[in-house]
Amino acid sequence: MKLVEGMLAGPHRRLNRLTGEWLLVSPHRAARPWQGQVEDVPDERRPAYDPACYLCPGNERAGGARTPAYTSTYVFDNDFAALKPDLPDGPQASDGLLVAETERGICRVVCFSPRHDLTLGEMDQDAIRRVVDTWSDQYQELGAVDWIRHVLVFENRGAMMGASNPHPHGQIWANERLPNEPARELRQQQAHAAGGGCLLCDYLDVELKEGERIVAQSERFVALVPFWAVWPFETLVLPRAHHGALPDLGDSERDSLAAMLRRLTRRYDRLFGVTFPYSMGWHQQPTDGEAHAEWHLHAHFYPALLRSATVRKFMVGYELLGSPQRDITPESAAERLRAVPED
Ligand SMILES: [Zn+2]
Ligand SMILES: [Zn+2]
Ligand SMILES: [Zn+2]
Repeated sequence: MKLVEGMLAGPHRRLNRLTGEWLLVSPHRAARPWQGQVEDVPDERRPAYDPACYLCPGNERAGGARTPAYTSTYVFDNDFAALKPDLPDGPQASDGLLVAETERGICRVVCFSPRHDLTLGEMDQDAIRRVVDTWSDQYQELGAVDWIRHVLVFENRGAMMGASNPHPHGQIWANERLPNEPARELRQQQAHAAGGGCLLCDYLDVELKEGERIVAQSERFVALVPFWAVWPFETLVLPRAHHGALPDLGDSERDSLAAMLRRLTRRYDRLFGVTFPYSMGWHQQPTDGEAHAEWHLHAHFYPALLRSATVRKFMVGYELLGSPQRDITPESAAERLRAVPED
C-alpha cells in the first residue's frame, strides 16, 4: 500500500469498503508486545448429554414441543421467534416523523450436533460439513418463499454474546426486507461493480498480495482480518471463487469450507485458552428475485474478547456516539491468530 511512511503507526482512520463507514485506529495505545504464549484450552466439562438442555436429543422444550432423537444436525422453527410469517401484508404506517412497517419473517434454530459438549471447532470435519449443507439447504428453502428477500444464518456463541444455551447451535432469521448491514454491503458492492469487477474478489487479490492480514488459507477459502476490522480479532472468511451464496459451492468447496471453519475456530479457542465467545454469520445474496451478480459470499466472525479470556471489547462511548475504534491493529491481530497452532 502506498502510504505516508509511519502513518499507520499513529492514530488514523480506515475506510470499511463493505459498509462505506470509517473506523478509528489508535495503535500507539497497544504498545505492549505480544510474547507468543498460547494457553491450553481448559476442560470446560460439559456432559455429552444434558437432561436439562432443550436442544439435546429427546428433551422437551419450553412450550411443550419435544426435540427428536436426532443424530446429525437438526432444524426447527424457533419456539420464541422474533418474527412471524402469518401477518397481514400491511401498508406502511406513518404519522409525520413516526414511521412503521409490518415485517414478516421465519426464525429457525439449527442444532449443529446432538453432542451437548462440542463446539464447531471440536466437531470433526464431516460433522461441520453437514452443518454447511444444512445452512445451504435452509438458505435455499427459505429464500424460495416468495416474500422472503433475505436469509441470515448466524451463530451467537457464549454467554458474553447473549447465547442462552451452550449446546452448539445457530439461528436463521429469514425476512421480508433487507436488514441494515446487508443493505449497506449491497450498496457498496453494487457501486464497485458499476466500475467493473467484484468488490470482494478485488479486495481478496489485494490481501493475498499483501499477506500480512491473512490468518489461514487453503486452495478454496481464505480467512483474514479485514483491513477495516472493528472487533480486535474480527475475521472475514471468503471463497476464492466468485460465489453469491452457499448453494453455489461445489462438493469439494464445501469440504474445504468445513476444514477452514474448523481451523479458524480452533485458533480462536486456543488464543486465550477459552471457548472464544463470538457472533458469526453468513452474508449471502438477497433472495429478492434479482440476479445480484455483484454479491460475493462471505462470513464475518465478530469475537468479543480483547486481551484475555476475561477482558472483552466494549462498544461504548466513542464507539457508540462517534465511530468504532480499536487499539491493536488488524495486522497485529492477524499475526497473533497466525501464531496459534491449529492442532
Ligand atoms: Zn444440549
Ligand atoms: Zn467476487
Ligand atoms: Zn458482510
